[in-house]
Amino acid sequence: MTASPSPNGQAEKRSRILIIGATGFIGHFIAQASLASGKSTYILSRAAASCPSKARAIKALEDQGAISIHGSVNDQEFMEKTLKEHEIDIVISAVGGGNLLEQVILIRAMKAVGTIKRFLPSEFGHDVDRAEPVEPGLTMYNEKRRVRRLIEESGIPYTYICCNSIASWPYYDNTHPSEVLPPLDQFQIYGDGSVKAYFVAGADIGKFTVKAAEDVRTLNKIVHFRPSCNFLNINELATLWEKKIGRTLPRVVVSEDDLLAAAEENIFPQSVVASFTHDIFIKGCQVNFPVDGPNEIEVSSLYPDEPFQTMDECFNEFAGKIEEDKKRVVGTKGENIAHRLVDVLTAPKL
Ligand code: NDP
Repeated sequence: MTASPSPNGQAEKRSRILIIGATGFIGHFIAQASLASGKSTYILSRAAASCPSKARAIKALEDQGAISIHGSVNDQEFMEKTLKEHEIDIVISAVGGGNLLEQVILIRAMKAVGTIKRFLPSEFGHDVDRAEPVEPGLTMYNEKRRVRRLIEESGIPYTYICCNSIASWPYYDNTHPSEVLPPLDQFQIYGDGSVKAYFVAGADIGKFTVKAAEDVRTLNKIVHFRPSCNFLNINELATLWEKKIGRTLPRVVVSEDDLLAAAEENIFPQSVVASFTHDIFIKGCQVNFPVDGPNEIEVSSLYPDEPFQTMDECFNEFAGKIEEDKKRVVGTKGENIAHRLVDVLTAPKL
């Protein structure tokens, strides 16, 4: 990849991007965005034969042009061979919370190969050098911090993506809340519900990550996602959802102590999510600092003409899904079943 910038900061030559974790929640958005933008997209996955849904996800990406590689990041020799053979320029890792330290081996492989122009480690949340959640979230942040320090020591060019919250109802006991519809029975409001956060649609996490990955302006920088259109507290989020469903719902307070107790239970992954929920909606970890350091940048300032999907649009999609499911079931089996289905769909999933 050449480093000469075009007017929008993107490098001139077509990069070869390797995405690790493309069958995962965040990685899938990134792989789709990379393919949609016409990049040479390689996806590394472990054997998926035993998991039909992962095999289907890989096949769908291959059908869109992804080149599949089978193997694991925790095999240094294999990773070195893969990076060299496919002349990979950019590596984006979206391994899950339980596999963060396997990136240590990946970093060693990238250092040995010496040709990687940019590495984006598995971050996709908060600025882990600033935020200080309670345990067990803190352990995950310590691992992400360790990966950061190793990258910096190794001299591999990097970009850290801090995309804040995924656009959805932020259930405090759920790992992938954008897969779960917002509530239809009652809202759980954290504290007084006044602490704001930034919400970003999964597709936008993918789109802006891929843009930043080959943007010379993000070299060795932290990129914060702070879309002003999606800067909301949980009371505002509840009101927005009430408008979509056309009725008001009871609001139940989940106090700071409740969240801390859920974190203390130390159940994986729910307690990790409880500790992050506490950090976001009680302590304000997304908003209690300005983005003004020399090594950080806000993504909207890089791509001012590129819109973010709004929470309003995301909630329209959720409301649309509920309506579609209702109609489908009413069409075949009658209204009572439809109402039961809506109850099932909207029950928090773990
Ligand atoms: P998932 O658990 O959904 O997916 C992890 C992916 O990594 C899977 O595809 C998995 O492959 C792959 N993987 C794990 N280990 C290896 C390995 N050794 N070799 C190759 N592939 C491997 O992860 P998430 O999407 O939930 O998390 C990714 C990142 O995003 C994390 O840093 C997390 O903290 C962050 N995140 C942020 C959110 C937000 O709201 N901002 C929400 C959720 C996550 P396989 O299919 O083989 O298991």
